[in-house]
Amino acid sequence: MPLPAADRQGSHGKPTWVPTEAGSHLRARRTKNTRPEVALRRAVHGLGLRFRLHQTIAPRCTPDFVLARWRLAVFVDGCFWHGCPVHGMKEYRGPNAELWRQKMEANRTRDRRNDATLAEAGWTVLRIWECQVRRDVEEAAVLVQRAAQDAQRPSAASASSSRAPARPACSSTQRA
Ligand SMILES: [Zn+2]
Repeated sequence: MPLPAADRQGSHGKPTWVPTEAGSHLRARRTKNTRPEVALRRAVHGLGLRFRLHQTIAPRCTPDFVLARWRLAVFVDGCFWHGCPVHGMKEYRGPNAELWRQKMEANRTRDRRNDATLAEAGWTVLRIWECQVRRDVEEAAVLVQRAAQDAQRPSAASASSSRAPARPACSSTQRA
């Protein structure tokens, strides 16, 4: 019986990652306390809001910080990994293209699932793109403040859909 022609098929017939220069750079990434995350926390603190870091508030859901008083969970989403419309990967190229596509799809699915889990547990979810923080950290902090104010209103909890967390449009040309 002939073996599959592709030389990078794993033992179970699945494609396997091919080491690339870009890949080794990405593996070294931080996932907690990234620079935008720290900058946003500082700005939010400057507005007088208090929060707790990296608390697991639902199974597999650890927001970057939570404003427990308002049951507001804040994530600073990296543009690359979470697929920001401006900076996310648009085409998949190179030897790992299919694996990248699958990985990014899995990331998106996980984000949506976590949003739903948190909404069911009574949390308001605010996701802010890394590039929004980089562009204007004060403005990003005000988004957190507004979300906290909205979360305080009793109607806000039932009105917000778990599938559509507050996520302002991401565009570097927005403020032209
Ligand atoms: Zn972005």
